Amino acid sequence: MRLKNKVSIITGAAQGIGLATALKFAEEGATVIVCDMKPAGVDAALAMVRARGAQAQGYAVNVTDRAAIDAMVAAVKDHYGHIDVLVNNAGITKDARLQKMTLEQFDAVIDVNLRGVFHASQAVLPTMVAQGSGVILNASSVVGIYGNFGQTNYAASKFGVIGFTKTWSRELGPKGIRVNAVAPGFVETPILATIPDKVLQQMREQVPLHRLGKPEEIANVYAFLASDEASYVNGAVIEVSGGMTV
Ligand code: NAD
Repeated sequence: MRLKNKVSIITGAAQGIGLATALKFAEEGATVIVCDMKPAGVDAALAMVRARGAQAQGYAVNVTDRAAIDAMVAAVKDHYGHIDVLVNNAGITKDARLQKMTLEQFDAVIDVNLRGVFHASQAVLPTMVAQGSGVILNASSVVGIYGNFGQTNYAASKFGVIGFTKTWSRELGPKGIRVNAVAPGFVETPILATIPDKVLQQMREQVPLHRLGKPEEIANVYAFLASDEASYVNGAVIEVSGGMTV
C-alpha cells in the first residue's frame, strides 16, 4: 500500500496505460481520480477502480479545456482537502510524414499532449505548493527522445514534455514537489491500432525482450515514482522500453 490515501488524478484513465495506472494506484491504496474525455469510459474505469476497494471519483474532462480542468481540480480539492499526485497520461497520435502533415494534425497533437499537460499541472500547482508536497508525472515516449517516422507532431510533443519535466523539477523541487517523466517504448494499447502488423513485428524484433510492453509494466513505474520510495527521484526521464533503444 505504497500510495495509501494519496489523492491521485490520472488523465486519460479510461483505457490503456491510464486505466492500468488507475487500477495499480487503487491496489496501492490511493484515492483515484479518473479523468478522461470519454464519459462512458470514465464510468467503466471508475467501477473497476472501486471494485478494487479504492475511494474514487470520475470526471469526464477534456484536458484541452482549461475551465473544465480547473473545475475538476477545485472539486477534488474541496472534497478531499489535498491533491498528492497528478499523472499527465492523456495523449493522442495523428501521424503523417512532414510533407503530408496538416496543420490540423499538428495542432491537435500539440493541444492534447503538450498544452493539456501544461493546463493540468498549472491547475494542481497552488494546492501542491500550499501543501509543500506533491508529485507530477508526465507521459513522454521513446519517440520523444529518438524521433519516429511519421510522428513530427507526436515526437515534438513528447520531447516537449521532457522540457516541462526538467524545468518544473528545477522550479518546484524547492517547494517539495517532484516532477518526473516516463518514456515507454511500444506498449500494447489501442493507441497502436493504426500501426500495421508488419511494423509491430519489426518493433518486437528490435526489443531485446522480443515483445511489446504491457500497460501494467508502465503503471508499475508510475506507482514507484508516485510513492515515497522515489523520494530522491526528480527531473528524471525513465525509459521503460524493454531495452529497445540499447
Ligand atoms: P490510449 O489511446 O490507449 O488511451 C489514451 C486515453 O486518453 C484514452 O482513454 C483517451 O480517451 C484519453 N484522451 C485522449 N485525449 C484526451 C483529452 N484531450 N482529454 C482527456 N482524455 C483524453 O493510449 P495509451 O497507449 O494508453 O497511451 C497513454 C499515454 O502514454 C499517452 O500519452 C501516450 O502518448 C503515451 N505512450 C504510449 C505508448 C504506447 O505504445 N502505447 C508509448 C509511449 C508513450
